[in-house]
Amino acid sequence: MKAQRQTRREFIRLTSLAAASAPWLASWPSQAGAADPDRKIGFALCGLGGLSTGLLAPGLQKTKYCRLAGIITGTPAKAAAWKAKYNIPDKNIYNYQTMVNLADNPDIDVVYVVTPNALHAESAIKAAKAGKHVLSEKPMEVSVEKCQQMIDASKAAQRLLAVGYRNRFEPHTIECIRLAREKVFGPVKSIEASFGFGIGDPTQWRLKHDLSGGGALMDVGIYALQTARYISGEEPIEVAARESKTDPVKFKEVDETMVFQLKFPDGVTASCATTFATGGMNSYTVHAGNGSFGLGPAYGYGGVQGRRSDGQPLTFPEVDQFAAEMDDFAQCILHHKPTIVPGEEGLRDVKIMTAIYQAAKTGQPVKLS
Ligand code: NAD
Repeated sequence: MKAQRQTRREFIRLTSLAAASAPWLASWPSQAGAADPDRKIGFALCGLGGLSTGLLAPGLQKTKYCRLAGIITGTPAKAAAWKAKYNIPDKNIYNYQTMVNLADNPDIDVVYVVTPNALHAESAIKAAKAGKHVLSEKPMEVSVEKCQQMIDASKAAQRLLAVGYRNRFEPHTIECIRLAREKVFGPVKSIEASFGFGIGDPTQWRLKHDLSGGGALMDVGIYALQTARYISGEEPIEVAARESKTDPVKFKEVDETMVFQLKFPDGVTASCATTFATGGMNSYTVHAGNGSFGLGPAYGYGGVQGRRSDGQPLTFPEVDQFAAEMDDFAQCILHHKPTIVPGEEGLRDVKIMTAIYQAAKTGQPVKLS
């Protein structure tokens, strides 16, 4: 009964959060995507790098409710290659300057921003001002202020803004959230989560602070932070952190390895780690009153595996997480529903990561409001 009450409370909290992020949804004008609820939502990918090429364009082909309608790129050679491969008409090909003209293009409903982190706001705001819904890759941006500007622009345009938290649409992850919310193993007591990989090319933007806003934490530590928040169902009240480097030259501008602890209001704690130094960190464990559960690997594009301390299976068929994420956003647009990953969610993570950097710098815990 208490678990049910808790679940209901959480549902109300999430619903009201979502409603607060888009209170205009109920009276949404029909040109925003609902005129024909059976049509496929047109996506334009903005930034044609590794993620767009390797996963989003192929993911779009697997969606039910979306189609690759256009591209936004600063590289003419990429425009030509994508045009040929995906049959994209010239009128749906833009660069970062001409994208302001998206307002005149009804083929495109959503701009999916897939540029380096510190460039998300620039394109997201242009897209919102052109009347387009925006899906921004994670991390949403590199500062709370820029996240807020993105939220404000989408609200002013009365368009949806979501952040690309693909694993929120991954079935093992969804099941772990259910196990936590319904207290199947009793109340959650503590969480351990870590994600990292050995980063290659020392010249890439992920190692340049101006473009990335930070290193391992911003890039993949954010997944561990998300886990702590969606499993606890609470917002942290305090963070502590320590950063370390084994290669101070390569990681001159950004964090190589970061360990951080989160304290939640009801006493739950999360111990998290992230690194750019080496592979291997890719799991989480939730310790609850009467047992434990978790995932490992937890955060890959595929191959996620679950475990429960009672020996019951935690196994689901593999899904394309990007296709599921984009289909969910399309459904939100078609049916006037709030997204479960709104801009406010992205801003919260950036706010907490900013506090983690401050805690690592000062060596002192940082309280969060
Ligand atoms: P990438 O380096 O492969 O591609 C970045 C793209 O941005 C390139 O096409 C590049 O030409 C373009 N770009 C525009 N202006 C640029 C500039 N000034 N400097 C450098 N590049 C510029 O990066 P990626 O791996 O595709 O990552 C893009 C975004 O997607 C990042 O925010 C990243 O965090 C996110 N991402 C998310 C996932 C996920 O699993 N959700 C996975 C990978 C990347």
